[in-house]
Amino acid sequence: MVVWRIVPVFLVSASVVAAPLLQWPTKIERQISSIFGESRMDHFHAGVDIPGEGWSILPVDSGKILFRVNRPETPGTLPFGGGKTILVEHEHFWSGYMHLETFSDVSLSALPQGVERKTVLGTAGNTGHSGGSHLHFFLYDPKEKAVYNPLPLLPPNDKYVSDTVAPRLLYLGVPLPDRIAAVQPDSEFTMSGDFPLLAMITDSGTGGQRWGVHRLRVKQGGKTLRDIEFGKILLDGGKWKTSNGMAYEDVFLENWYVLGRGFRDSPFLEILAEGYSGPQLTEARDLKIVK
Ligand SMILES: [Zn+2]
Repeated sequence: MVVWRIVPVFLVSASVVAAPLLQWPTKIERQISSIFGESRMDHFHAGVDIPGEGWSILPVDSGKILFRVNRPETPGTLPFGGGKTILVEHEHFWSGYMHLETFSDVSLSALPQGVERKTVLGTAGNTGHSGGSHLHFFLYDPKEKAVYNPLPLLPPNDKYVSDTVAPRLLYLGVPLPDRIAAVQPDSEFTMSGDFPLLAMITDSGTGGQRWGVHRLRVKQGGKTLRDIEFGKILLDGGKWKTSNGMAYEDVFLENWYVLGRGFRDSPFLEILAEGYSGPQLTEARDLKIVK
């Protein structure tokens, strides 16, 4: 049975039309280890990770293999060192699979090679810039040069994504010349100038994960300072940016979220953080800033 739902369709227009759901690129039903939009210290994590090695990778839909490469850097405008990488072309977008251990026979045959949903592309591994065996996969719109979070187009399945715990604000931080000073969110802290304020926020899924957040809003005195949603990142002027035009360094400092400036003189802070699913973090407080 084909399940239908309303989703944005790439390329066609900004409107939404009915499209069939994609399939998960594996049958192993394992909790994802990273969501779309996390910090990778100097770039956005532009995909979703499923951990483990040796398991078979399936395309998210039928299509044809557009290319396969095996090198540390990814060709063209696609992000980021994928090692053994396969791109599959579908009607309105491409799907990408990175860090493969092996290519299957079909992946190695002459291109373009048609694939069905049951065609094995290869096996998950740890090639390229990868800190442990996993599949990194994503959707890509080559005309828009945008990488999309694949989760909204996949069948909901809590074996892959189960989130019962709200994101947590672990620390607030202030960047110093040589380090980031971290304080407990309830602590008093000194700010001698109008420095950016940072936050360490993680979403733990069912308790064991350490995901980033899907959407982060920061408000101060009723005014929204920032509203970042990681639905897609797109190439804009040679830089990958969120859909509201924020580059990596606007959003992150290392693995800290940048909340903004101006809190020294107006210490009210409201943080709303959402995981991809599950409950939301709502923090509203007056910061105990010592000038
Ligand atoms: Zn990844």
